[in-house]
Amino acid sequence: MRKPIIAGNWKMYKTLGEARELVAGLLAGLGDATDREVVVCPPYTALASVGEQVANTGISLGAQEVFYEAQGAFTGAIAPQMLCDVGCRYVIVGHSERRQFFGDTDASVNRKLHAALANGLRPIMCVGESKPQRDAGEAEAIVTAQVRAGLAGVSAAQMAEVVIAYEPIWAIGTGDTATSADAQAMHAAIRATLAELFGAETAQTVRIQYGGSVKPDNIDELMAQPDIDGALVGGASLKADSFLRIIQFQ
Ligand code: PEP
Repeated sequence: MRKPIIAGNWKMYKTLGEARELVAGLLAGLGDATDREVVVCPPYTALASVGEQVANTGISLGAQEVFYEAQGAFTGAIAPQMLCDVGCRYVIVGHSERRQFFGDTDASVNRKLHAALANGLRPIMCVGESKPQRDAGEAEAIVTAQVRAGLAGVSAAQMAEVVIAYEPIWAIGTGDTATSADAQAMHAAIRATLAELFGAETAQTVRIQYGGSVKPDNIDELMAQPDIDGALVGGASLKADSFLRIIQFQ
């Protein structure tokens, strides 16, 4: 009942020409499967152009970040309506790289999530623990606290639009994936938290992606877990053949 969602986070990669070439490769190999959702999140400079390329195809457009104000003197920031304007349906909020390098906190992530929802964008909210936190046995407490703080003030009805991405920081870009059992355990803990916050019925409908070195050779095992509803993919989304293989998980 939860439609799997595979999203590619291109981070700070791809010129406009490279972005268009990648999308052309994806569109050529995508086929017409409707049982899974595919999202690409190019850098801002390629959003408008890729938005035109994917319009009315099986690929949805997402942005990697958004600011919470509607407009104003916020040099370098991009407002939710600007993302809608170029065809975005999704936006990532709270990626660990934004938390680490750009000062995002649970409070700012929460404001961005509300701004996205208020403008009809579906937020993909990232949560995840560091290696020291995992080694100290704190992973579940850290992650579920991030979920609670990031979703503060959100209604059960609004949760239909929210995707959560569990991304253990130590697995991002390192080649070190969480075992499918560890990932499943955390996804189950996140869903239990959602049940406390919004009720068991709503919790069963929310899609929870796994992210962290997802590759063609581990996607099938991850997707076989009952609470893993998709993947947020960095490095392996930068090439059409590997991203297509991930999209075509068994
Ligand atoms: C990410 O960017 O969210 C990510 C999970 O990256 P990678 O797949 O490269 O680990």
